[in-house]
Amino acid sequence: MDYQFSDRLKDLGGNAIREIFKLLSDPRMISFAGGFPTKSILPARIIKDINDELMTSDEAQNILQYGETEGYLPLRKTICSYVQRYGLKDVELENTLIVSGGQQTIDLMCKAFLNKGDVMLVENPTYLAALHILKTYEAQAVGVDAEDDGLITEDLERKIIEYKPKMLYLVPTFSNPTGRTVSVEKRKEIARITSKYGVMVLEDDPYSELRYEGERVPSLKSVSQGDNVVFTASFSKTIAPGLRTGFAIGAPDVIRKLTIGKQATDVHTSSLSQAIVNRYLQKGLMDKRLPEIIPLYKQKKDVMMDAIRRYMPQEFVCTDAQGGLFIWGKLDKKGADTQAMFADVCRASKVAYVSGEAFFAAGQPKNYLRLNFSNATLEQLDNGINSLAQAFKHELAKLN
Ligand code: PMP
Repeated sequence: MDYQFSDRLKDLGGNAIREIFKLLSDPRMISFAGGFPTKSILPARIIKDINDELMTSDEAQNILQYGETEGYLPLRKTICSYVQRYGLKDVELENTLIVSGGQQTIDLMCKAFLNKGDVMLVENPTYLAALHILKTYEAQAVGVDAEDDGLITEDLERKIIEYKPKMLYLVPTFSNPTGRTVSVEKRKEIARITSKYGVMVLEDDPYSELRYEGERVPSLKSVSQGDNVVFTASFSKTIAPGLRTGFAIGAPDVIRKLTIGKQATDVHTSSLSQAIVNRYLQKGLMDKRLPEIIPLYKQKKDVMMDAIRRYMPQEFVCTDAQGGLFIWGKLDKKGADTQAMFADVCRASKVAYVSGEAFFAAGQPKNYLRLNFSNATLEQLDNGINSLAQAFKHELAKLN
């Protein structure tokens, strides 16, 4: 049938990572592609026990009933104080919305603020799914240049004046894909500039709990004087992504609008997932388990970095993030194109990565790639980087 798809979706392909997942059906493949947590540490036993407790409690039937769009009340109450770890104080219920993962907050913010043709500023490069979501609202991404300590604030102000954006989307801590963290000074400056021009900010923070080195940085929302910043985080990387549970914190008027948008999308986030997360937090399991998870991830990152230093060609240049799940690299050679070589490299090395092009709102340089270290075993990290390095050397030799 000749399907008459909407203008919103008719030209939109699946995002680059979802497409790569299909390749991974070959069991020999090592994936450095998605941002999956280490499978063996997903807390199946703990969640089974919490689930047993919940389903034998007086609450069981309430949890299995329809719930409020804003979220399961006990979890919303818990979140009001939980967010102090992000420097967020005086958070009330009216500031809090439970979402089905941080991804949903991006979607709801775009739904609430962007009309067709509107501009959203993003760090260049940025989380590729945010670019994807934006397209489904027929809005436009404009990239703000960044350096090691985050956005170049002069470029931010220039682009606000030039493009009159509705919103800035930012992952200020351990950004995906670059692993960069915005300094406190820059957070204050970004908050000041966006508030001055009345630009909404979506601060997306899936990774700040996964810090391997250095000092924690306060959230951008916590250093902002204005009501224009919405903060979102989720439990995907700290508990389990399959729970699809996260939260958004913002001004009551914004939260109300996001709630209306969410009602239309999925009525509410699974109450069972929300109740599980609530008990998990109340039992103090976050602070018990994070110190177990962090050394494992740090070890994985270190093994990947060691292997990079040992095997990669000298043209491979990369970041060494203090946290998060990604290494951001480039092949520093004229003509290197990580997307064009992807199929050959993947076939030869049996390793998948994500080519960098899809993360850029502008410029689209072809020689970048993102490597994830949390999903592979220590042995796979070493072997995978070794094979990938040989395949890159082979490809780079063709460019001579
Ligand atoms: N934002 C960023 C920057 C991410 O990297 C991810 C996960 N890959 C998400 C949002 C979405 O995560 P979730 O919906 O599972 O919270």
